[in-house]
Amino acid sequence: MSRPPIDLRSDTVTKPTPAMRLAMAEAEVGDDVYGEDPTVLALEARTAALLGKEAALFTPSGTMANQIAVGVHCRPGDELICSATSHVYLWEAGGIARLWGVTPRTFPGDAGLLTLAEIEESVRPDDQHFVRTRLVTLENTHNRGGGPVHPIEDVRAIARWAKQQGLAMHLDGARLMNAVVASGIAASEWAKSFDTVSICFSKGLGAPVGSALAGSTEAILQARRLRKLLGGGMRQAGILAAGALYALGHNVERLAEDHAHALILAEAFSDVEGVQIESWPVETNLVWVTVDPALATAAEVAAHLRLHGVLTSALGDQTLRACTHLDVSRADVERAAEVIRGIEPEALAAETVVY
Ligand SMILES: *Cc1c(COP(=O)(O)O)cnc(C)c1O
Repeated sequence: MSRPPIDLRSDTVTKPTPAMRLAMAEAEVGDDVYGEDPTVLALEARTAALLGKEAALFTPSGTMANQIAVGVHCRPGDELICSATSHVYLWEAGGIARLWGVTPRTFPGDAGLLTLAEIEESVRPDDQHFVRTRLVTLENTHNRGGGPVHPIEDVRAIARWAKQQGLAMHLDGARLMNAVVASGIAASEWAKSFDTVSICFSKGLGAPVGSALAGSTEAILQARRLRKLLGGGMRQAGILAAGALYALGHNVERLAEDHAHALILAEAFSDVEGVQIESWPVETNLVWVTVDPALATAAEVAAHLRLHGVLTSALGDQTLRACTHLDVSRADVERAAEVIRGIEPEALAAETVVY
């Protein structure tokens, strides 16, 4: 057990490579709250161009980028439409309500992916009893849905309808580049359906810190004020932005390897009795599985895998997630797959008693 564990808990666990660290160490910096950090400005310009938007704003996290977007589009008392399993609703500490006084209206979606048919009756009438429906947020790829790419025709249909209804559109694109690589559709093409788009540099792209929000000049001007409000105005942040620029320059195409690796893990899980892949086929870098409650809990499966040098996340009593990313090689994935195939759910409860 002297080998380091293979860490499949999240695609956030990656560490900057020596080349990325060098780019960070050598970054030109200035005070970004004064608008004087050339590396942050370069990252914002590059992100805006990538997404085909007028402007972009560097933020410390994807959560902050999403929450700023909600704050830009909504006023207290407004309602937003999202999937019940979306990050913005489920995993952002209730920020929608706590920060902005906004009510979420959630829909299950198919693996978390909304369709127009599901939401088209959801706009509240203009009546004193009701909240004002204001925003639709989509998430591509959808984490809790097993990392599927949102079919672009569904996204476009929702966007056309939203425009007719006077609703704004925000995309949580934490893993948009995974969707780009898996679909072959450019980021700017996806972004066309949205007023604002967030992307994460610290997930599959492998930067240590940072996300961005892109949109119109006007939206990003407002976003800058809200970032300051939330304490996200950073000073010589070019050191971080340099890691993100490096990631955009070097780590996008290689996401295809992560996707191929996830498929290898999914195939291994599907060979285990009592374990089911939640959403097949696995399209990107996330593998969500359900463990048969008659046989074992997710925590027991995770404990067994950990014992054999493979880290995964138990994210529910019977739910387990494995993520691939740039710090797991093909050899790591093959070893992990072997360990996964060795799971014997009936034997796990006994094993956990021992440890
Ligand atoms: C990780 C993630 C975010 C943002 O997370 P931070 O940890 O705040 O950077 C947003 N949306 C989705 C779908 C995510 O997976």
